[in-house]
Amino acid sequence: MTKEDKEKLLKIIVAEKDNLLVNIKSLEEGSKPVAPDDAIGRLTRMDAINAKSINEANLNTAKVKLVKLERALSKLDDPDFGICAICEEPIPVGRIMLIPETTVCVQCADK
Ligand SMILES: [Zn+2]
Repeated sequence: MTKEDKEKLLKIIVAEKDNLLVNIKSLEEGSKPVAPDDAIGRLTRMDAINAKSINEANLNTAKVKLVKLERALSKLDDPDFGICAICEEPIPVGRIMLIPETTVCVQCADK
């Protein structure tokens, strides 16, 4: 990975993190307990509870991704950054740009 690639990747990770933080904030708003006598409009209470559990699943996914992105960010300057954790071959730059939190190459991810 070249210095330019790393700078580009750093920007991608920071931008993704910002997006995630906004996302997490709005998901957290939607994960508040559903009050039994809430005036929910067209949604029934069951719908609200279903929406809440989907919300919580999305929130978990977003939080896991955030942790992975932060890990990638902290490892950006490591000599083994961008090296597949399984086969130890370099991960193609294109893949890292697309999924910065990845630690394995396409071949190993498919296994
Ligand atoms: Zn691999």
